[in-house]
Amino acid sequence: MALSIKNHNLYSGASKVPFIKSPNVGGMLSPKFLIIHYTASGPDADIARFFAQESADVSAHLVVRRDGSIKQCVPFNRVAWHAGKSQWTGKDGAHYAGLNNSSIGIEIENWGPLKKVGTRWVSWRGVNVLRSKVVEARHKFGTPDCGWEAFTKAQFEATLAAARALCSAYKIEDIMGHDDIAPGRKSDPGPAWDMAAFKANVNIEAEKQTIVSKSAMRGSTSSP
Ligand SMILES: [Zn+2]
Repeated sequence: MALSIKNHNLYSGASKVPFIKSPNVGGMLSPKFLIIHYTASGPDADIARFFAQESADVSAHLVVRRDGSIKQCVPFNRVAWHAGKSQWTGKDGAHYAGLNNSSIGIEIENWGPLKKVGTRWVSWRGVNVLRSKVVEARHKFGTPDCGWEAFTKAQFEATLAAARALCSAYKIEDIMGHDDIAPGRKSDPGPAWDMAAFKANVNIEAEKQTIVSKSAMRGSTSSP
């Protein structure tokens, strides 16, 4: 799926991805980071619709459902309320506190941590998750071992396509998990999200584009 960005909206080909407007927004945003989240919800909850309610008091720019479909809730040049109390040190040593003001938030539909009850894995809501869809792992910040709902391949690919589009439209310096910017307080996206593979795939694409543009430049300078 090739995605692109026009007027701070996400497009799939010539059509805008469904936009479910959230009223929970701040001021203007020049995004420097992408923050990956899980929704801590199952397929019965439409999180984009939840963000559309003022009473929710939270939002994110994008929501990626389990089938890989994407909805946008906030334009990419406006602050969304996804990070809460958070901090990060940028590659240039700059300190960021309250990452809502510098980042794009991507929520991926996933239960997050699961509890073992007898032989079953259940979500915090008591919903069963198939054993084949459970990743048993310890969170990098040391929370006890537990199960984590696996993300789907469709989600990984859709999020990758969105991240590539965002990185080519904005000067994105880095991609972090909510757990990276709020360690101890937040555990999303957690060990089921392969952040290393995700970042490598986004960067590979960016490097390819640089190589292409460099060779295009060489081509134009060397042509008679
Ligand atoms: Zn989060």
